Amino acid sequence: MPIGPIGLRQQGAPSLLAVFAHPDDESLSAGGTLARHAAAGARTAVVTATWGADTHRAAELAEALRILGAGAPRMLGHADSRVPGSAPGKAHFLDVPVDETIGQLVAHIREFRPEIVVTHDAYGGVTGHEDHVHTHRVTQLAVQAAGLERLYPDAGPPWQPGALYLATHPHSATTAWGGYLAPTGKAMLTVPDEQVSVVVDVTPWLERKVAAVLAHRTEAERGAVPGLVAGLSAAERELLLSTEWYIRHDLRQGLRHGLGHDPVPTVTPQTELVV
Ligand SMILES: [Zn+2]
Repeated sequence: MPIGPIGLRQQGAPSLLAVFAHPDDESLSAGGTLARHAAAGARTAVVTATWGADTHRAAELAEALRILGAGAPRMLGHADSRVPGSAPGKAHFLDVPVDETIGQLVAHIREFRPEIVVTHDAYGGVTGHEDHVHTHRVTQLAVQAAGLERLYPDAGPPWQPGALYLATHPHSATTAWGGYLAPTGKAMLTVPDEQVSVVVDVTPWLERKVAAVLAHRTEAERGAVPGLVAGLSAAERELLLSTEWYIRHDLRQGLRHGLGHDPVPTVTPQTELVV
């Protein structure tokens, strides 16, 4: 069965592994999609690149994931580039050899065996945080390495996810949002609407998504994005949070043996490079 763009009615519910930089990114960027897949009976999980497992942010993440039905936190344990105390004694995520972080993520992919993987887009989301950008890079490389048995042989048997979905925002979203985010003074890194492959209406899971965002209590208290969400009316939450956008990258095109028990239909090889 081909795994097309996220469409649960046509495809059933593909298992989903989300990979995000910080505790709260999973809820803000893909909370509705995570809740939606879990409600449809899919296995879902979240890997978080930064913050230590013994920090308050880890406890808040655990609560958010419980609300989203995404299991226990899977934390790579690196230090947040902007928060020195986020993982005591550990190097900043960007300073860790990339081979090491890819290997860590490959182990999670091979253990969880997701049909699809979700992460930040190449901009690192609307804010462009350097940890988000790096998480994107590491995930792009890991989803390919995971399927190759001679790469990271100690990280488990190979597993090739079918597609990578990049959480993104189209130009039109910020127009619709009006001035809501302008006061934050943050850059708004968005993509042309035609680059967006999937527009997910997460309205039915909005309450759950907001609860997961607000579970990051200390972020709300210090006035980070969860704090902005806490101050919104119900109508504003619907306007800002009820849609999630993704850019889809096919990871199985041309592969003849992809998902173990569920072989990929034969694909006729191309004879030249085309767009
Ligand atoms: Zn973040």
